[in-house]
Amino acid sequence: MTVSGPLTAERVFESGARLAAESAKLAGLGWMRGTSGNLSEVVCRDPLRLAVTASGLDKGELSASDVAVVGPAGEAAHVRGVAPLTPSAEAGLHARVADLTGAGAVVHVHALNAVIAGDRWPKGVRLRDVEMLKGIGRLAHDDEVVIPVIRNSQDMADLGDRLEAAHDPRTPAVIVASHGLYAWGADLVRARHVTECVEWLLAYALAVG
Ligand SMILES: [Zn+2]
Repeated sequence: MTVSGPLTAERVFESGARLAAESAKLAGLGWMRGTSGNLSEVVCRDPLRLAVTASGLDKGELSASDVAVVGPAGEAAHVRGVAPLTPSAEAGLHARVADLTGAGAVVHVHALNAVIAGDRWPKGVRLRDVEMLKGIGRLAHDDEVVIPVIRNSQDMADLGDRLEAAHDPRTPAVIVASHGLYAWGADLVRARHVTECVEWLLAYALAVG
């Protein structure tokens, strides 16, 4: 995907189509109940612009135009020809993750296992010696992996500071306690794959722990 050059409505809606397709897959897994969760994709790196799923919509039924564009603090950014839909309040954290990690896409879901694991292991979820760790870019053996857990907040700047302090550059995911999971990757498909693998790993940890 192109992330340089002028940001046109066409590019935003192309991104919106990818966001809708990936949202539908995650909603189908039961991780975007009600209107919860949001997905984003970097559509311009300098200045930073993200296409984000619009707020308050069923994530299983989005269309290409159900997309908002935000800047580095999650503020709405105008693009000619794109209706100014309300971005999720959580868009600021997506932008922070994209800026901090260089990720091209971010997934946020209220997956139940992430919430339960965050309750059980508030200092982080420890994992090692399981093949699925390869799915998040870590080693299947002799690699101590900690999925960080941060406290929840309604203030995205506070939450971003906590995420920045806790995140491990080798581990593309962070649990927000009593809330859900953020995961990221080079593109949306990769970010979804990380989400799927982390959720599996958390289910595994809860089952054996
Ligand atoms: Zn959330």
